Amino acid sequence: CGIVGVLGSHEVSPILVEALKRLEYRGYDSAGIATVNAGKLDRRRAVGKLVNLSDELVHNPLPGKSGIGHTRWATHGAPSVTNAHPHQAGRVAVVHNGIIENFKDLRATLAGHGITFATQTDTETVALLCEFHMRDGTGPVEAARKTVAQLDGAFALAFLFDGEEDLMVAARKGSPLAIGHGDDEMYVGSDAIALASLTDQVTYLEEGDFAVLTRQSLEIRDSKGHLANRELRQITLEN
Ligand code: GLU
Repeated sequence: CGIVGVLGSHEVSPILVEALKRLEYRGYDSAGIATVNAGKLDRRRAVGKLVNLSDELVHNPLPGKSGIGHTRWATHGAPSVTNAHPHQAGRVAVVHNGIIENFKDLRATLAGHGITFATQTDTETVALLCEFHMRDGTGPVEAARKTVAQLDGAFALAFLFDGEEDLMVAARKGSPLAIGHGDDEMYVGSDAIALASLTDQVTYLEEGDFAVLTRQSLEIRDSKGHLANRELRQITLEN
């Protein structure tokens, strides 16, 4: 339902929760965040209001300056901690808005390789597929690209990877996604309003776009894989 992502220069957990609060108006049943810290990917999730996630973070802090966050409106799988995003499979964490229409077929393919599932969601399939592609040594960006190419349906996705503190991948098909530009920081938001306290410099992804972000760079490719020039806009948002 709501996606945020930050490659930042400060502790990112409170920034992610604050950004998710700006998306609360859209409604949600659970929420979660993942960060990479000292190369290690980890996550915290909670059912219900964001205050429950904040409580969880008080008891189990999640350090790190790179992270993704999500407020979920369940479509596949009941609202539960297990089904809440981010979904993690080995070295990959994913947040997702929308529906992966062909997730059952993808699940069957992965099951054929002996891969097992921990949730009832369509989204977990995305994380497992990406992790699967990385098994032969394929890098995270290429693995994410292969993964996204296999997905049918409507989605906005943000990927974070173990061992990669200066990398995020974002993809858009049928669900909006904006990239925010900061001072040696880069952000992702399903709605630019989520980024209001962070930046007013925004690039909107277009249908089929695939974006690779670092703190210093943004590379966007269109649905044909060609480098795409998307306008950098200065937007007016109320804080
Ligand atoms: N289909 C996904 C799920 O049920 C994402 C739902 C959403 O957009 O929040 O977990």
